Amino acid sequence: MTVKAFIKGCAAAATIVTATMSATMSAGLAADLAIVHAGRLLAEPGAAPLGNRSVIIRDGRIAEIREGFVDAAAAGAADGDDVVIHDLSDMFVMPGLIDGHVHITHENNPRARLQRVEMSAADYAVAGAGFARTTLMAGFTTVRDVGARERDAIFALRAGIERGDVVGPRIFASGSTISVTGGHGDGTQGYREDIGEILHHTGVCDGVGSCRQAVREQVRAGADHIKLTATAGVLSNTAAGLEQQFFEDELEAIMDSAHAMNRKVTAHAHGVDGINAALRAGVDSIEHGTYLDSESIRLFKRNGAYLVPTVLAGVTVAEWAEDPESFLLPPQRAKAAEVGPNMLDMARRAHAGGVKIAFGTDSGVSRHGDNAREFALLVEAGLTPMEAIYAATVAGAENLGQSDMLGAIAPGKHADIIAVDGDPLTDVTELEDVDFVMKGGTAYKTP
Ligand SMILES: [Zn+2]
Repeated sequence: MTVKAFIKGCAAAATIVTATMSATMSAGLAADLAIVHAGRLLAEPGAAPLGNRSVIIRDGRIAEIREGFVDAAAAGAADGDDVVIHDLSDMFVMPGLIDGHVHITHENNPRARLQRVEMSAADYAVAGAGFARTTLMAGFTTVRDVGARERDAIFALRAGIERGDVVGPRIFASGSTISVTGGHGDGTQGYREDIGEILHHTGVCDGVGSCRQAVREQVRAGADHIKLTATAGVLSNTAAGLEQQFFEDELEAIMDSAHAMNRKVTAHAHGVDGINAALRAGVDSIEHGTYLDSESIRLFKRNGAYLVPTVLAGVTVAEWAEDPESFLLPPQRAKAAEVGPNMLDMARRAHAGGVKIAFGTDSGVSRHGDNAREFALLVEAGLTPMEAIYAATVAGAENLGQSDMLGAIAPGKHADIIAVDGDPLTDVTELEDVDFVMKGGTAYKTP
């Protein structure tokens, strides 16, 4: 870390640091009082950005937004306060990004199936620490993890970040995915049966009682929300199509037991029968949604449910399907070729139909840190850059049930702030190169 200017003894006798740090700094720069001088400030995505504003941050929360560029004394620095001023007066400043669909403890690679029997939960947690850091540095200050191979790994990583032992985004985690035996979230397909026993997956359930219990076990283990696989999926090693896997009574059992414990439920779903069955059972959001139809759109709107389109996952698996050298197994390859190219059109139809969209990438399928590639895909699907940014901020927070703390730069919320040197409202790919990252008032990356 190189400190550019270190000035002691202002009017309030506070210690003021105007700092530039290397992008790879380890601990982050925290202070009692932080002031961000924003050349342009998109405080509330959906509303127009403001010019020349100061964001005043105390104890990790937004305290106030003032016109012009205020100094420490004007911001109310007290005797002995550590003050950091971030000069972003030539930058575009906005809320930290929220990715509503990641698998942060692993990343697909040719050895992933072998790693399943080589890596312990501790190994996945440590790998996740690296991916978490990469994700935060890309400007994603909050992620929703929707299914970890080792449940202990994601909960340990979430706790390590909360304690400050690990640098990463805020994590909201589902733990294990709820799946039928042999279904998309049952990670034992294609392994020897005795190996499958070792890989025993806590979220597998069949029938009403078993599914209620599976949900309650995730909640007991620490799940913030429940993720279920309503239909088959691309990367499970089973030629089981892409259609519905849970029956209606099982879906209702999952929704009711999760909602009774104040947990939202999100459903992975490609085939339209599974999408619509999950929506009829009262699911709060749908992941992927590949084959959604006009009835799905009606149900989304009736329920106020979110769609997380994960177009980047579609693009990624379509590329693998076309590459004869890629590591996909035959059932995976066939499904990837079928699903991948359809996801952009699905997002287009859903948006045109008025479905609420929350940003999500399925990172872990694609590379962690490339999350912002989804923005250009959403714009290709017909969203304006502002709508795409809204999906990753205001809508992302609402989808998490965290609108009071996340998604905008407003008094009382967490000081999760990013900045870029261009205008993402003109060219949304500016967000693929984020120059400043603050989470909870601590700066982890500065220009
Ligand atoms: Zn996923």
